[in-house]
Amino acid sequence: MELKEEILGKKRKNYLSWDEYFMGVAKLTSGRSKDPHTQVGACIVGEDNRILSIGYNGAPNNFNDDDFPWNRKSESVNETKYPYVCHAEFNAILNFPGNRKDLKNSRIYVDLFPCQECAKAIIQSGIKEVIYLSDKYATSSSTQASKYMFDKTGITYRAFPEESIKEIKVSLKPDTSISYLNDEKK
Ligand SMILES: [Zn+2]
Repeated sequence: MELKEEILGKKRKNYLSWDEYFMGVAKLTSGRSKDPHTQVGACIVGEDNRILSIGYNGAPNNFNDDDFPWNRKSESVNETKYPYVCHAEFNAILNFPGNRKDLKNSRIYVDLFPCQECAKAIIQSGIKEVIYLSDKYATSSSTQASKYMFDKTGITYRAFPEESIKEIKVSLKPDTSISYLNDEKK
């Protein structure tokens, strides 16, 4: 059966690309972080474009957020967040409730280029591609170690597409224009 164009109606043009959608989910997820300085989100996506897991940076499970040292500087490194905080990518991998083999060939969307510890978790989990928004620590030894490991293990990485860099507004106000029912006046 062939339907005429006027019967088919017009498809919406400005819908989100997959990259925009998944990076949007990663960014929205970062909103759960209690870190006062850095909020990072990650979203793992399977080969069939289904979301497998999400994560954000935070304290280990059962570590009370109010007892957590959120500082970046102190006399002792153990009085800062660094030894304790779980990064978004690490959490996304460990939060995955399914069978580990389903992470094989998946991709991960993340705010910030993964540190060397998350890079190792990414490699070991079977994730094959990293899509990042920011590479602001590109000259750090950690990021360089991550890239070296990715290059050696065949993990590809790419910056989020330039043409997709934009603001996406999410309103949580009820939208009265939404309609599921056929209530169009004829
Ligand atoms: Zn990390």
